[in-house]
Amino acid sequence: MTYSELMADGVRQLTDAGFPEARTDVRVLLFHACGLDFMSFLRDGELQVPAEQERRFAEMLSRRMEHVPVQYITGEQDFCGLSFSVQPGVLIPRPETELLAEAVFTDAKGKRVLDMCTGSGCIAVTVAKLGAPAFTAASDYSEEALCVAKKNAELLNADVTFFQGDLFENVEGAYDIIVSNPPYIKSKVIEELMPEVKEFEPRMALDGTADGLLFYRRITAEAKRYLTPGGRLMFEIGHDQGDEVAGLLAAEGYGSVEVKKDYAGLDRMVFAVWPGDNKEN
Ligand code: GLN
Repeated sequence: MTYSELMADGVRQLTDAGFPEARTDVRVLLFHACGLDFMSFLRDGELQVPAEQERRFAEMLSRRMEHVPVQYITGEQDFCGLSFSVQPGVLIPRPETELLAEAVFTDAKGKRVLDMCTGSGCIAVTVAKLGAPAFTAASDYSEEALCVAKKNAELLNADVTFFQGDLFENVEGAYDIIVSNPPYIKSKVIEELMPEVKEFEPRMALDGTADGLLFYRRITAEAKRYLTPGGRLMFEIGHDQGDEVAGLLAAEGYGSVEVKKDYAGLDRMVFAVWPGDNKEN
C-alpha cells in the first residue's frame, strides 16, 4: 500500500468506529510510525510503505481503536511549543493549561515559583524555560509522575527542583508564585467522561473527591506557609468552579481574587494574592 492509501484506510476504520477526530488521529499516528511530516507526506504520499512501517502503524491504530489516547501511543504532547514525554501514569497536558503556564511565565522573572501537582512537569518546565525565574520547584505525590517530570526537565534542559510528597509535605523554601492544576473532577463525574480519560488517564490526577474541591481547599490553606508576602496563588479550575474556588480563597484571607476565562469563554483560572499575615507566617 502507499502512504495515502494507508492514511485513507486508517481514517475509514476510525470513522466507522465512531472516533470524532479520525483524520487528526490517523495523521499523527501515521506520521509518527513512518517518521513523516506534512511536507514529506505530500511529496511521498504515492510511494509504497515499507513493511516494517506498515506493521508499526497497524499496531498503533489497533491501540487507538481500543481508545488509548493518541499521546500515550506516540509518547508525546506539545505544550507551549515544547515537546513533553507522556505515559499512562501522568495526565496528558491540555491546551487550557497552556494559558495558566503563560500567565505564570510572563510574571516569573527573578521570582521563586512552585508548581504543585506537577504531573508531567509541563507547567514547571515551561516556566523554567520561558519565564527566567530565580528558582523553580515542583511537587507531586506520584513517584511515577515525578519520574516523567524529571525526564522532561532533563530532555528540555530545564532547571527544576523536585519534591515528592502529599502536597506540601516535603516542600522546602518560600515562593513568590505557587501554581497548581490539581485534580478537580467530582468523583461521580469521572464515570461520565470519555473512555480515553476515564480508562487510561490516572484517576489520581483527575479525582477531586465528592465535590471536586479537596485540593483547592487544602492547597489554599497550606500554601499560606510557603508564600512570600504579596505572593500569588494561581489555580486552574473546572469551568463551573470559579465562584466556589474564589470563595475559598477569600475565606482564607487572600486578596485580589480574580476568576479568568479560557479561549472558549469558560471560567478556567483563579488567581489570588497572599497579603502576608504575620500570624500565619
Ligand atoms: N500539572 C499537570 C498538568 O497540568 C498535571 C495535573 C494533574 O495531574 N492534575 O498537566
